[in-house]
Amino acid sequence: MTLSGILSEFRSSKNSKTRKLKTLWQLILNDGPIRAETLSEKANMNGATCARLLDELSRLGLISAAELGQSTGGRKPILYSVNPDRGRLAGIEISNIYSTIVLQNLKLDVLATCKIKAAGQETPQVLLERLLTRLLSLLEENHLSTDDLLGIGIAADYTLPPGSDRRAMNDYLIPLLREMAESRTGCQVTIGSGVNFAALAEYRLRHKESRRLFFTTCDAEIRSSTILSEPVRFMPPGSENAFGHMTLDLHGRTCECGSFGCLNQYSSLEAIRKTVIQHLRRGKPSVITSLVSDEQEIDYHVIFKALELADPICTDALEEAAYYYGLAIANTILSFQPDVVVCGGTLTPKHTFFATVQKTVAQKLAGFLQINTRIVPAFDSYEVVSQGAGAMVLESLLSDTP
Ligand SMILES: [Zn+2]
Repeated sequence: MTLSGILSEFRSSKNSKTRKLKTLWQLILNDGPIRAETLSEKANMNGATCARLLDELSRLGLISAAELGQSTGGRKPILYSVNPDRGRLAGIEISNIYSTIVLQNLKLDVLATCKIKAAGQETPQVLLERLLTRLLSLLEENHLSTDDLLGIGIAADYTLPPGSDRRAMNDYLIPLLREMAESRTGCQVTIGSGVNFAALAEYRLRHKESRRLFFTTCDAEIRSSTILSEPVRFMPPGSENAFGHMTLDLHGRTCECGSFGCLNQYSSLEAIRKTVIQHLRRGKPSVITSLVSDEQEIDYHVIFKALELADPICTDALEEAAYYYGLAIANTILSFQPDVVVCGGTLTPKHTFFATVQKTVAQKLAGFLQINTRIVPAFDSYEVVSQGAGAMVLESLLSDTP
């Protein structure tokens, strides 16, 4: 039986044995390598039933068993793991700058990857067409076909032209992109927001013990995703950019959402760019004047270059952005108390940005010793969104609400 056949039965069957098989496989997938005793405890099954079902999962080729655990005298305990090669997952991140494709096994290890630079102002449809062609050749190079794929996850976070109605565009584009990918490959396609995918990759690969994970990215816009587990639940789609509109200053800068003092106006890349330009206009000295001949040319790349050259204006603007971002994160921790906050996006690895965020949060929370939230930087990897896209395929194949 094919793996997609088994998973589709896992998802749709009301049969109690099939549902127990699914529960066990999911536990092994997420927590393996794991002992039978722990499994029967977590799944609330008696030992004999659990052993019988584990045999069946082995016969289906879904799991493997190995004597790898610590011996406590006598026989070594058996540890169960998912058979990672039972199927493949594909993750695609569509972006206006660099799009990424990854092929993964069921443990989400990246087996092959490819990065494509956007040619210019391509539409998401044209970009996806190119990416699907590249995915098919990537499969061929790895002696695989679309039959080996359990599904394709697509993160569609392309930047729209200013003033576009993202919601209306998404209502039209998301089904269109899904249909394009499904008819071209014959695979099941899961499409969603990159920030949710990256949060899922962080959770599955590095923070699986977390019960409340807050993931945020600081780029041209500030986004966030919250994961509550288990089973994994996300915030509703379309709410990814809400965090960027947290009010930080009642009398602050005007925001495009209509209110004042939103986080985006202080900590996003665009906010930093505006601050830098203001200082230059006032005639403050900066290496930027030697990097560009016109104010119009000041983009993020120029600012990053100036940061590398320790430019004081850019360093101060970045520090200020980090301070506001840290305050917004501290506010979130105070009200929501996540166990982990993961900071990602382009700005987090820049200069002292993350250190300032950490320091600001620590200062704000100094009086709340009972709050033990950890703040960590995200994977510094361009593959993380597409890795999460693959993880989302598994998630949706196993979810009870297709
Ligand atoms: Zn706003």
